[in-house]
Parts: sequence; structure tokens; C-alpha cells
Amino acid sequence: MTAPKLVQGYEVVIGFETHAQLSTQSKIFSRASVAFGAEPNTQACAVDMALPGTLPVMNMGAVERAIEFGLAVNAHIAERSIFARKNYFYPDLPKGYQISQFEIPVVQGGEVSFFLEEGKETVHKTVRLERAHLEEDAGKSLHEDFIGQSGIDLNRAGTPLLEIVTQPDMRSSDEAVAYAKELHKIVTWVGICDGNMQEGSFRCDANVSVRKPGGPLGTRREIKNLNSFKFMQQAIDYEVRWQIDQIEDGHAIEQATVLFDPDTGETRAMRTKEDAADYRYFPDPDLPPLVIGRDWVARVRSEMAELPRVMAERFVKDYGLPEYDATLLTQSKAAAAYFEATAKACGQPKLVSNWIMGEVSRRLNSGEVTFENIPVSAAQLGALISRITDNTISNSAARQVFEGLWSKEGEVDALIEAKGLKQINDTGALEAIIDEVLAANPKNVEEFKAGNAKALNGLVGPIMKASKGKANPAQVNELLMKKLS
Ligand code: ADP
Ligand code: MG
Repeated sequence: MTAPKLVQGYEVVIGFETHAQLSTQSKIFSRASVAFGAEPNTQACAVDMALPGTLPVMNMGAVERAIEFGLAVNAHIAERSIFARKNYFYPDLPKGYQISQFEIPVVQGGEVSFFLEEGKETVHKTVRLERAHLEEDAGKSLHEDFIGQSGIDLNRAGTPLLEIVTQPDMRSSDEAVAYAKELHKIVTWVGICDGNMQEGSFRCDANVSVRKPGGPLGTRREIKNLNSFKFMQQAIDYEVRWQIDQIEDGHAIEQATVLFDPDTGETRAMRTKEDAADYRYFPDPDLPPLVIGRDWVARVRSEMAELPRVMAERFVKDYGLPEYDATLLTQSKAAAAYFEATAKACGQPKLVSNWIMGEVSRRLNSGEVTFENIPVSAAQLGALISRITDNTISNSAARQVFEGLWSKEGEVDALIEAKGLKQINDTGALEAIIDEVLAANPKNVEEFKAGNAKALNGLVGPIMKASKGKANPAQVNELLMKKLS
């Protein structure tokens, strides 16, 4: 463990609460659809509207996704868990309470680990989770289309959420963003959430406080609804500076909920924060305890795909990749599958990794293309890499072939032929070129023989040029040395 970085002598403390919308078809306690973007109130049934006499019915698909999440982060899945009413008044909450979980959440403990760059070092960091609980989303107030009045859209009411709460374990905005990215990767990888931050499927609240190192925890302020990683970083950095300024000016920090305004780059107090006691939590008498049998947990575990960190460890072990490569290649399932298929096709995992992190990433970053619809198949990239390792083409020629594959001009061997990129491996042809260059550059030859090793460069360059880049550099060197000694 390295000592936490300080900001103006203060230690930053951050804990996250993330609402991940679970990817079910229907709501958590009703059969209404959760599809995004429908006309207001077309996806709100009697239960979502809180009509008298309606009762919630548990959507077991939501529970199963919570179990999957718990297993993915090595948490304990509660044998028996309880739903509670969180009571507050708001126009978009017609019941007057939100069904959530309080004392016994479905997911308990667990942790999220990730790597992050600190200067030149790559450090490993683990953030402990406190819990993850199931709850329903509220509706939405609409202010734009009504002159002097507000409208209520209850489509979102009852949408299943998993609220994932960390311990206050993060010590910088960099760590916070790295945690959020890792969590995002986990929920989308496992497939319990589509991760769409714009549409609000993955909403992060950052609890931020500062303290003198070794002192008690400071009072926190909670920044709500950070819907991009960029804003997350900006908001936390601003908030940290603001709190330090307040304290330095002799003001105490008041517990509050704040909003980040991307236009000004500032956080602004929205309301003073309620304490749990203000919500008068009590067990919801409409829902029986949620009992999760160990056989159910075992079945879910057996059906889950390999997790990113397990896969990364396997890449290190089976393919001899550095930890860094393995982590990058397991950023998404599609990237990992592409890597494995290409490595199988050519048997050169490290070269494949270099190509994916180099040319392939460069091409992906500059367009709309992802590993899901990449125009160069794993078989093609594998074939291309094989042509480098069997000395048919040079690395720079391979980049040209790759461009041809990308724009679907043909297959590897046909492209090498058509573009005339085959390396000259024929000793006779190479020797002819070398003899010509040696004859044309007597000064370099003399200098080299007199002991100036650098004079060799003045010969290799013209030889490569005369061969139009098609000479095999290793072979050129070998032949040159033979002729000059
Ligand atoms: P609440 O019930 O008000 O949401 P919790 O105790 O559940 O409060 O904590 C919510 C989040 O705030 C957690 O992620 C926790 O790690 C974080 N947190 C708690 N105390 C602090 C603190 N002093 N500074 C920063 N984060 C904190
Ligand atoms: Mg909370």
C-alpha cells in the first residue's frame, strides 16, 4: 500500500452509490414494460400508479440479476432478505414511499479490484463493497412542456434498480473514476445492465469528504447523478477544492446533496441531506421475505460466463501475456473473444496483443467501429501475423495489408501479391542489391572497416530503399556483415 496522495495537506475520502438499472423486460413489482423512450404514462400500470388495492409482485428476473452481480464481486448472497418502505413525499412517487431494502439487502459485502496508472507505476486497488440492494425507481417530473405547471411521467416508476454501495475506500478522483469504469465493465459484462449512462441506466453518486491524514472522517457531501466519467472527475475535483477552501476559511462542512453543473464546472447544494431516520424505514408488509435457496445460487453460478478478472488471469497464465495486456484485452467480451480467436489462428499471442493494442485500437478509435462489427476478422488478422512471422512480409508492409483488409479489398495473400509487398528472402537477389550499394558508397565502407559502427546505417538505409522496403532487415544485416568482414 502506498500512502494516499494529499491535496493541500488533506486526504480525500470518497464512497460511491451507483444505481444500475437491471436489464429485465418488465418492472420490479409489475408486468409493465421498462423499454426506454415510450410516450409518457404508456408504460405505467395500476401498480406503478399506486392505485388503491394493488399489490406488488416480485420479478424473479431482477433477483436473479442481483445474485449474478453478487457472485461477480465475491459477495455474500443473503439467504433471506427483506424489502422495506422508504417514506418520502414527492409528486413522482404516488405511493408516498419507495420500495427498497434497508436492514437485510440481497447482496452483502464483496469487492471490486482494478489497476490504475499512477505516474509511471501501475497500482492495484481494491474497493470494498458494503452492500447492493434491490429497489424500484421513481417516476419523473416534466417541467418543459407545461406553462407554469409540471407533468408527471410514471413510465420509469417501478423500474428495477440495483443500488451498489461502497465503503469510503477511494482516495482520489482518479481512483473513483477507475472504480466506476470497472463497475461499469462488470455489470455490462455479466449482462445485468446495459450500462447506458446517457439514458440513466448507470447513475453514480459520489460521496466526498476531506480530512487531515489520520484524523476522523470529515463530513461528506453527496454529488448526485454523475452521468459521464468526465463529469465525474471534474465534479469530484471541484468539490474537493471547494471543501478545502471552506475549511481553510474556517467554515464547517455541512452534510448536503449537491448537483454538478457541467456548464460552470461547479457543484451546487440542492438540499441538506436527510438521515436514514427521516425516511422512517419499515418492512413492507405487502412483500414476504425474499428467500434465496443455495441451489438457486449454485445454478446461477454454474450458468455465468467467465468474469473479466478471471479471464485476465487466464490470459497471463495461458498466453504468457503481461498483466497490463491482459487487463486491456478484457475490457469487453468482444475484445477478449477477438484476441483469443486471433491468437488461436496464428499461435502468436504476444504479437496479436501488440496488434490489437496498436493498429487495431488506432483504427477502432478513429471511427464508429467496435469489436462487434470490426471489418477485419480474427482469421484474417491471424493470417496476416503469420505472414510476418514466416518472413513473407515486413511489419511496415503488414500495416499496408491491414489497411487493405480494413477496407475489404481482399484476403491477406492476394493483397500481398497485388501490392507487391513480398519480402526479398532470396539471397542472390539481395546480394546483388547489396553489392550495388557497397560500390556506390565506398566512403561508408571505409569508415566501417576503420571501426565506425555507425557507418553501417548509411549502408542499410540505401539497401532497404533499393529493395523498395522489401528486403528482410535481419537478412540484410547478416549478409552485410559477411561481406564487410
Ligand atoms: P446514506 O444512508 O446516507 O446513503 P451511507 O452510510 O449508506 O449513507 O453511505 C453512503 C455512501 O457514503 C457510502 O458509499 C459510504 O462509503 C460513503 N461515505 C460515508 N461516510 C463518508 C465520508 N465521511 N466521506 C466520504 N464518503 C463517505
Ligand atoms: Mg444511500
